[in-house]
Amino acid sequence: MFSLRKQPSHPQTMLFEEPEFQALLLLHGRDRRKIGTEIELRDLPKVREMLENKIKIEKETIASAQIELRELETKANSLETLIASIETKISQQKTKQLKVKRQEEYQALENEIKGLQEEMCSNEDEQLETLMKVDDARATLVIAEGKHTDRVHSLERQLEELNERGKLLQEEIVVLENEIKASSEEMEPTFLRQYEHVKKVVRRPPYVVPVDDQKCSGCNLRVSNDIVSSILVEEKLTICDQCGRVVYIER
Ligand SMILES: [Zn+2]
Repeated sequence: MFSLRKQPSHPQTMLFEEPEFQALLLLHGRDRRKIGTEIELRDLPKVREMLENKIKIEKETIASAQIELRELETKANSLETLIASIETKISQQKTKQLKVKRQEEYQALENEIKGLQEEMCSNEDEQLETLMKVDDARATLVIAEGKHTDRVHSLERQLEELNERGKLLQEEIVVLENEIKASSEEMEPTFLRQYEHVKKVVRRPPYVVPVDDQKCSGCNLRVSNDIVSSILVEEKLTICDQCGRVVYIER
């Protein structure tokens, strides 16, 4: 029987498998988690502000529905008063009409009454229209109060969760700081120095990335054969010549 398994091209242990390198990967993982946690914590105020704005908008929607209803009710009330006063005036002029003797005076009052009746008619139309709007506005307010109040509650819950998250993130950072300290102390000093240097050069994680299909997975650019050889043959801590990250090949 033939074995299909390939013989290792390099019989010694790969750098990747060395405890020093594994310690570097562990430190790198903790560093990345700490940076991610710090970014999330830093962005919390922005998220909080966004939620607070949303709450404000929801409350304003309720308030504006209340204002609209109140304005329409005021309008309906003043129309009612106006119509009542026109009615009084019409009956006054009708009484006057009974007493006048001259035809011109009678006619003048007749015209005036006609004008008042027309005025009353159009005010009554407007009153009817306003009362219908009052009904609509009242229904809208009920819906707004229900829907937007629910939203406000859900947003307020999110705010509370955000505050909890903030506390949790701060605790996580403390834990990670201790873990990073422990990892750094266990690291081979030369490796640690090189890694710290890479962090300064690259500035944003990841700082240690695998090479896949001869491409650096940090910058996605093809690495030279020298780089591959440095990793596989010389087994040195190797830096991507394009982006400055530590590159390794998983085996
Ligand atoms: Zn690169």
